[in-house]
Amino acid sequence: MESWELIIIGAGAGGLAAGIYGARSGLKTLIIDEKMAGGTTADAPVVENYPGFPQIGGGELAERMTLHCKKAGVTIHEIEPVTGLDLAGERKIVKTSRAAYEATALIIATGSHYREIGVKGEKEFRGRGVSYCGVCDGPLFKGKRVLVIGGGNSAATTTLYLSGLAAEVVVTHRRGAFRAEDALVKDIASKENVQVFWNTEVREIKGDKLVTKVVLYDNKAEATKEIAVDAVFVQIGEAPNSQIAREAGLDVNEHGYIKTDVFQRTSVAGVYAAGDVTSHPVKQVGTAVGQGITAALEAYSYIRRPYYRG
Ligand code: NAP
Repeated sequence: MESWELIIIGAGAGGLAAGIYGARSGLKTLIIDEKMAGGTTADAPVVENYPGFPQIGGGELAERMTLHCKKAGVTIHEIEPVTGLDLAGERKIVKTSRAAYEATALIIATGSHYREIGVKGEKEFRGRGVSYCGVCDGPLFKGKRVLVIGGGNSAATTTLYLSGLAAEVVVTHRRGAFRAEDALVKDIASKENVQVFWNTEVREIKGDKLVTKVVLYDNKAEATKEIAVDAVFVQIGEAPNSQIAREAGLDVNEHGYIKTDVFQRTSVAGVYAAGDVTSHPVKQVGTAVGQGITAALEAYSYIRRPYYRG
């Protein structure tokens, strides 16, 4: 079994920040991710609130973080799903699709995944007009009419990104106002090719080979109508990727997010969590980075014991 001092599961913003601090502290550090490094930051159409970068593509920011991490000396294993953890002993065991590893400390930074709306047609047309990632699939719908579902920051940033590609962007939100940041809401209001349907729910996605229309329900007027669209971007939030952690016995809250204290310690000594998988109420690249840094410094303290808190 390969032996490491620190293993980080997840190569998103939190995991990569933890990697940089772990390796720079001198820890033999491995990051394992089931996908390519970058996490959901790489899916962000544009990031405008990460200090030092007034505007940067999520893909570029994620790539810079990954390169920085490798330069710091971290080994990154990509496309290697973790299949189980054994946290019972002094050494933490990480089993993956390829091998088993042991480490003195672990940081879980597995992030979150996109939530589905659960309407008829959503699963059927996934990849055939139904998408959860504007950056990934937006360019396929250049000059078309697309629909974005949601009222938070994800829906807002995706709407703005798509407004630069599609001929028309229709946004449906089940309430009468967005919950997204003011700056984003103002930007949306200034776009001539964006139309917002307030108090509107998508009830069904229809098509033949590809998406062609959606059934909308106006929950104020209590009226149903169909409109033609070429794509549906579901942007209604996320849920934690915490299954492996839950199975290993870590405490999670009622929504499945891993509980941590301010030092990012979980319910098991030597195991830390950082980023969107944790119960921290703010889900931002900056907060994930901060949590990753705290987790790595605490893990360092646990492993090498200079200021160990117990
Ligand atoms: P979010 O803030 O939780 O917003 C989800 C939106 O989807 C809400 O408006 C919600 O409606 C709506 N919604 C939820 N379930 C729905 C359903 N079944 N059908 C229709 N609509 C539904 O999620 P998010 O926008 O993905 O953001 C997640 C986190 O990432 C937040 O902390 C956010 O700040 C952060 N983020 C930040 C940025 C940024 O640029 N700062 C960008 C992306 C994400 P209600 O309003 O009615 O609840």
